[in-house]
Amino acid sequence: MNQGPDRHDVVIVGARCAGAATAMLLAKRGLNVLVLERARLGADTLSTHALMRGGAVQLRRWGLLDRISAAGTPAIRRTRFHYGDDDTTTVSIKPAAGVDALYAPRRTLLDRVLVDAAISAGAQVKFGVDVTGLERDSTGRVVGVVGRDRRGDLLRAHGWLTVGADGARSLVARDAEATTVRTGVGSGAIVYGHWVGLDVTGYEWFYRPGGSAGLIPTNDGAVCVFAGTSTYRFQRELLGDIRAGYMRLLKEVTGADARLGSTSPPRRLHAHPGRPSYVRKPWGPGWALVGDAGLYLDPLSTHGITDALRDAQLLSHAVAAVLRGEEEVTAFSHYEARRDHIAGPMFSAVDQLATYRWTLPSVRRLLLELSSAMSDEVEALSALRADA
Ligand SMILES: Cc1cc2nc3c(=O)[nH]c(=O)nc-3n(C[C@H](O)[C@H](O)[C@H](O)COP(=O)(O)OP(=O)(O)OC[C@H]3O[C@@H](n4cnc5c(N)ncnc54)[C@H](O)[C@@H]3O)c2cc1C
Repeated sequence: MNQGPDRHDVVIVGARCAGAATAMLLAKRGLNVLVLERARLGADTLSTHALMRGGAVQLRRWGLLDRISAAGTPAIRRTRFHYGDDDTTTVSIKPAAGVDALYAPRRTLLDRVLVDAAISAGAQVKFGVDVTGLERDSTGRVVGVVGRDRRGDLLRAHGWLTVGADGARSLVARDAEATTVRTGVGSGAIVYGHWVGLDVTGYEWFYRPGGSAGLIPTNDGAVCVFAGTSTYRFQRELLGDIRAGYMRLLKEVTGADARLGSTSPPRRLHAHPGRPSYVRKPWGPGWALVGDAGLYLDPLSTHGITDALRDAQLLSHAVAAVLRGEEEVTAFSHYEARRDHIAGPMFSAVDQLATYRWTLPSVRRLLLELSSAMSDEVEALSALRADA
């Protein structure tokens, strides 16, 4: 399609799970794809990085799950739900949709694997570029971006489609004036750190009114341990002393789980104060949004990466339809409808979870709703033809 040093078919802002996956898929279709990323290659980001089955299905479909496993990421074969003091339910991860285990790769690994796959597919990825605005033609259609590289030099990149894979604070969404079509009422905060020496082999989730916690085995023998509560409580009780608040909340929610007392907590903790979940209209003339830029679920869902990998696939199907001659409006409306059909029920359950205004019976019900929505997602993803 487009030629010339700053002319591409697709310009993507952001090179993590949404951007790198989209770049890989579009480059595999033979498109000239440029990805611009502000951070450096391999940089970490805020995330407890647990993949749900839909995410594992996508990585397997793309031939990347083996790389995650080969990098020593532990296979998760069971999930344990702890409700209050004396109610624990264990669910084994049964083989389904070609996946017999879940994984929680560090983002330094997952995002890197996706970027490598995008480059291998033919995409060009530039790090250290801060995109500062969108460019439009005389009709108002978005035709590319402008930004600055690390030296401060101005950079312009033009394409038929500009994709915002630039996360929750998406500049592309803002400058394209993407409307927010749904906003949640809940907002949960998360504090986490990577512990060593903990005996944990599966995902473990803890719920107690007003708080949550999770144990997530990951690379290098570490376990990501998070404590969660409402943004309101985080600001009142944790913000003053995050470390003390984290330890207090963990103790409260896990019922002083003996494993956490058997080893020292990590020196480095990460905190996310939370924001309400949202859904944005993910396309307009010359632009589209994927990942958190378009749809954000509270981190208590541990589903944002899976959302991003799913929507990369759905967006690439819409682009393929346009390449086959379908009207952009039809193809991108279909992308939006498919995304919202799959994510809508998850949004409702996660938003209620993020209020932290539940009881133990009602949190069980919400988790069942979420689990059923995730099963529907896996079915929908499995039904997609990779080459459609
Ligand atoms: C505390 C926390 C815990 C979480 N835990 C989980 C979990 O366990 N499981 C899960 O599935 N999800 C989890 N999530 C959600 C998950 O991290 C996100 O959904 C996921 O990272 C979204 O990927 P993305 O590629 O859309 O955006 P991001 O990961 O936010 O990447 C966007 C990229 O765009 C770049 N960028 C932004 N603006 C510009 C610009 N102007 N110019 C150039 N580059 C730009 C950024 O540098 C960034 O690298 C968690 C989130 C948080 C906050």
